[in-house]
Amino acid sequence: MIKINGSEGEGGGQILRSSAALSLLTGKPFHITDIRGKREKPGMMRQHVTCIEAACAISDSSCEGLHVGSSEIIFHPGKIKSGNYNFKVGTAGSTGLVLQTILIPLLYADGPSHIILEGGTHNMMAPPFDFIERVFLPIINRMGPSVSARLIRHGFFPRGGGRIEIDINPAPLKRIDCIDRGELKSVNGTAMFTGLPFDVADREVKAARKVLSWDEEAIGVRQLPEDQGPGNILLLEAQYEHVTEIVSGFGKLGLKAERLAKTAANRLKGYMNSEAFAGPYLADQLLLPMAIAGGGKFTTVKPSQHSLTNAEIISLFTDIKIEFSPTKTGAFLVLIGSK
Ligand code: ATP
Repeated sequence: MIKINGSEGEGGGQILRSSAALSLLTGKPFHITDIRGKREKPGMMRQHVTCIEAACAISDSSCEGLHVGSSEIIFHPGKIKSGNYNFKVGTAGSTGLVLQTILIPLLYADGPSHIILEGGTHNMMAPPFDFIERVFLPIINRMGPSVSARLIRHGFFPRGGGRIEIDINPAPLKRIDCIDRGELKSVNGTAMFTGLPFDVADREVKAARKVLSWDEEAIGVRQLPEDQGPGNILLLEAQYEHVTEIVSGFGKLGLKAERLAKTAANRLKGYMNSEAFAGPYLADQLLLPMAIAGGGKFTTVKPSQHSLTNAEIISLFTDIKIEFSPTKTGAFLVLIGSK
């Protein structure tokens, strides 16, 4: 039984999701205590419970202590099964984080799967749908499988009600190297909004354009149907030959449009000025698939606490060693390989 202290490192929900995925993939049970111990309200929230329920449903696993507010679970993994699955994250909890828990395991199932996920699609502190579709999945597909995702309906906090569908044609992951991002092909940005004044999105566009010096056509406003809101997100995208990066700014009450846009634009600018392949979020999300592939390497910006914690969890379940070392250009090289 692998023992995990959920308050170590990043001390958030990522430890739980990565542990569940790794447990399914390695067949090793785990016991985690002090779940989300570093968060203001520790313990499992609805969305974390849904992630573990989904992990159980795709594998006939069993889990003791699973309920909202729980700070300790014991997870016994079963056999991963392909199928048609529908998971609803009550509340506006992130669909992307449920996918993060079950996607890599389902690549090792006995056949294709179709997944419907309902809840939030553009949540703060979670990968927005666009990031999953255009940043993360293209790399997974380069590793062998064929996974496609469709957004049926947007879901924002607090209303939720979004829906995404994913088709998975499994294949074992191959190791790949993601060092060179290639030439910049195009840039674009969208300030999506609904149930809010047009002015909010327009001010985001203007502020982002100022920081990035982009042409007018590169960035615009998109109004979504009223019943999908209220909500607002600014997505800024840079497409390179071998990778795409999307930085998001999530609108929330009390956060000025200009401030949100400036922060997001400066983050994208920082990435574009670096030579890194992966931005900070793609970096923490690539560690698990590359570890399961048996190795790989990529360059990234400064490793986040999320990445370091994910590397720790991976080392508890596998013989994979992950090393982060600075390069001459100020980026970091991440080497994933056998211990
Ligand atoms: P908590 O931190 O409240 O315990 P959590 O389970 O929601 O909860 P984290 O542990 O913070 O979350 O993990 C968030 C995950 O979402 C990470 O995998 C991170 O890479 C990803 N993520 C967060 N924000 C973005 C973003 N803007 N774009 C892409 N991915 C993101």
